[in-house]
Amino acid sequence: MIARTGNRFLAKRQKMVDELLVPLGIKDKRTLKVMGQTPRHMFLDSALHDRAYEDYAAPLGDGQTASKPSTVALMTQTAELKGNETVLEVGTGSGYQTAILSQLAERVYTIERINSFSNRARKTFNELGLNNVVCLVGDGSTGAKSYAPFDVILVTAGAPQIPVPLAKQLKEGGRMIVPVGNGAEQELLLVVRAGDRFTVKKKEGCSFVPLIGKHGWKTKPSKYS
Ligand code: SAM
Repeated sequence: MIARTGNRFLAKRQKMVDELLVPLGIKDKRTLKVMGQTPRHMFLDSALHDRAYEDYAAPLGDGQTASKPSTVALMTQTAELKGNETVLEVGTGSGYQTAILSQLAERVYTIERINSFSNRARKTFNELGLNNVVCLVGDGSTGAKSYAPFDVILVTAGAPQIPVPLAKQLKEGGRMIVPVGNGAEQELLLVVRAGDRFTVKKKEGCSFVPLIGKHGWKTKPSKYS
């Protein structure tokens, strides 16, 4: 539970829930509740605070962006969290998606390749009293083997194909949500583990910055530069 939300931007947050997320088809009450309570502006530069509850991918620097609220809501709803799960998030970015997950699951491991993003997000988690988040720095395309297996893995950067090591770090019945595609456009996939088999369902089109790493893009895809 968030320690210090304050009333700043309360009306804008509620408007985001009522006029953006609900009409978009987000029905999961827990997702809507935490998104109505979580101060997204605190995860962004102060110059972006006024627009923090608009549906756009806010710049983080270094060519990276925070996922837009509708994408965060869709990915969170797809994860179907009940509260007792161990989650791995690949791509901490601003830390906003992590903060949402942390209020809906038991523990969240979040891994980011850019050290300064991880440090900044960790600071915000501390300010908000989100103490069930473990921040890791490194190539998340290989997962986080020493903390596996996971009930849910959320990949918040676009991969050229399903990263197999990540899928193997799912528990039996575990779910991975991962954007897969070429360059700047991907399809959001839901991968579910059943023994050694994995079923894959297409959810919807999306556009994420690239997953750069051993099981992602080796260099930035050309469509992206
Ligand atoms: N969940 C984030 C948020 O709400 O702000 C989204 C962040 S952004 C769309 C994707 C992030 O993935 C970027 O911060 C990028 O640096 C990171 N990233 C890209 N490849 C990565 C990798 N192999 N391992 C860890 N992080 C990676």
